[in-house]
Amino acid sequence: MTPTARLKSRSPIHEFDLIRTLQQRHRRTDPSVIRGIGDDAAVVTSQARRWSLLTTDLLTEGIHFDLRTATMADIGFRAAVANLSDIAAMGGTPQYLLVSLAIPRTGTRQHVLQFYKGMMTACRPYHVTLIGGDTSASANGWFIGLTLVGTTTPHKALLRSGARAGDLLYLTGTIGDAEAGLRLLNEQFGKTRPPHTAKLSARYRQFLVKRHLRPTARLAEGQWLSAHRFATSAIDVSDGLSGDLRHICQESHVGADLDVGSLPLSLACRAYAASRRLDPVALALAGGEDYELLFTLSPRHRSEVERAAKLRQFCITCIGTIRPAQQGIQAIGQDGTKRPLPNSSYQHFR
Ligand code: ADP
Ligand code: MG
Repeated sequence: MTPTARLKSRSPIHEFDLIRTLQQRHRRTDPSVIRGIGDDAAVVTSQARRWSLLTTDLLTEGIHFDLRTATMADIGFRAAVANLSDIAAMGGTPQYLLVSLAIPRTGTRQHVLQFYKGMMTACRPYHVTLIGGDTSASANGWFIGLTLVGTTTPHKALLRSGARAGDLLYLTGTIGDAEAGLRLLNEQFGKTRPPHTAKLSARYRQFLVKRHLRPTARLAEGQWLSAHRFATSAIDVSDGLSGDLRHICQESHVGADLDVGSLPLSLACRAYAASRRLDPVALALAGGEDYELLFTLSPRHRSEVERAAKLRQFCITCIGTIRPAQQGIQAIGQDGTKRPLPNSSYQHFR
């Protein structure tokens, strides 16, 4: 889209050179891509008797990332994982990626190439092909929009809307790590100040920062849950468990009991919380961007699913039960007391 002259005159980036470089670096190998970067639209063959999944995410400098605490490669990697994770939460297979970029005056060609490098590093294990995008100048920081196209078997997509009262609530992996990692980076770069006594081993620190900068999308887990029709509903934890559980409950018209004592927390996350005198559970409930999957299943599949997960070395933990809508969403404390679960997730415009 014009005006392209603007990008040329205001920054050292030449739009068409940049696109040509991207085209050469990210050549398509997927035979289903008839035409990738370089035409007015990408052309792909559609597979008969498959459903398409389409997801998009917008990242804004200062809201979603800060160039003081992350490199462009880290930002690219995380942007890709955010989209891959949406496909994982549907139980699908990712295929094609489109990227829209608005580049500020301070942005360089190297910034852009590093961003693509990080992004494609996250995509490579899943053979995702970059098939197009758009490029513009920005008067106010970076704007990065990713659109990911995937596929799934008809009627097997994992929706948010299938949970029923009596189903068990499960989570993959551990939560709270990415939030702890982000807080550590903010401390390191002087955006916040840690308490005087705050100590944490280098190993834990490294683990938590990596969980923030280089998270994993749970694609294998999502595809497994979908293929065997184990899950009745699923969502990825991108805003924070307390909010993402609410989305399942709203879409499924159910309530839930969340067993707070059984939340899967890593040793590193617990150590971080202890060193900062924070409640690790509150951190885990509010912290987003762990990109774990929250899903529900019928109790009659419980032992089969747990056995199969162990065999595949998938880490899953039962963290509660789905209840009728009228009881709302309750947190069950370690002492058995019930109280409404506060929504502490990240929300824009709050
Ligand atoms: P148009 O003027 O039709 O929008 P462009 O010159 O913007 O065409 O784009 C030319 C080709 O380069 C298209 O195939 C488009 O998808 C691709 N492209 C443009 N910007 C990007 C980008 N940032 N990342 C990947 N592909 C891009
Ligand atoms: Mg364009």
